[in-house]
Amino acid sequence: MQNTKPAIILSRPQMGENIGAAARAMANFGLTDLRLVAPRDGWPNQRAVDMASGAFDHIPAPQIFNTLEDAIADLQCVYATTARHRDMIKPVLTPAAAAQDAQRRVKDDEKAGFVFGAERTGLTNDETALCTAIIQIPTNPAFSSLNLAQAVLLVAHHIHEAQDNTAEYVLQHGDSPPASREYFENFFGRLEEELEIGGFFSAQDLKPTMLRNIRNMFVRADLSEQEVNTLQGMVSALIGKKKREKKAG
Ligand code: SAH
Repeated sequence: MQNTKPAIILSRPQMGENIGAAARAMANFGLTDLRLVAPRDGWPNQRAVDMASGAFDHIPAPQIFNTLEDAIADLQCVYATTARHRDMIKPVLTPAAAAQDAQRRVKDDEKAGFVFGAERTGLTNDETALCTAIIQIPTNPAFSSLNLAQAVLLVAHHIHEAQDNTAEYVLQHGDSPPASREYFENFFGRLEEELEIGGFFSAQDLKPTMLRNIRNMFVRADLSEQEVNTLQGMVSALIGKKKREKKAG
């Protein structure tokens, strides 16, 4: 099966720990295609495996290449990640924009890859020139370089976000459905009535504003039917209706 998720390519990574942490970040965000170009300490690397915390059970062993050209040969679009400004005419994207661009291309059956440079030197200009675009993660200009694996984490997160269609905000109502406006207004009408009887609206001219404010408080709470029932019960208890019912019963 063709792997349509973008590849993560580490060019000449030095520390096994960073390879392992990058693999972990990839597994966290559902990426599986890890490629290493001439890892300094060879492969396999026990430090990487230790740092990966089991991530290699979720992603295949990395493919190893001698050169970046070989590692990206099958890809159509390749993003070079770099903290430094390069004097090259090449599109420079934010990680979010690049992730969306990659997502769009992957949908069109293209293969995309994100290239990361060595810890000490980053990507060379020649390596960068091989890539179709540059990603610069906006950071503090006075201290702009992220740890290699953390840069992978951040990009992997954006790739995941671009694929993910989870709603940004969901209120879980459990078994009780959200109250309809009518359901809520039934309660609110009763609340208003009881507040009137209880002398809450001392200044009648302020009553409409007060009611609006109170309604806004409740509406903001996005109540479920069960919660409206609870409020109904609270009003009953406060006006002593429950006590009376108990006595009568
Ligand atoms: N000392 C190197 C930085 C190496 S950091 C230099 O000056 O370039 C290791 C890798 O993490 C970089 O090659 C790059 O791939 C990635 N990286 C770190 N910070 C980044 C940033 N702000 N934007 C994009 N990529 C970054």
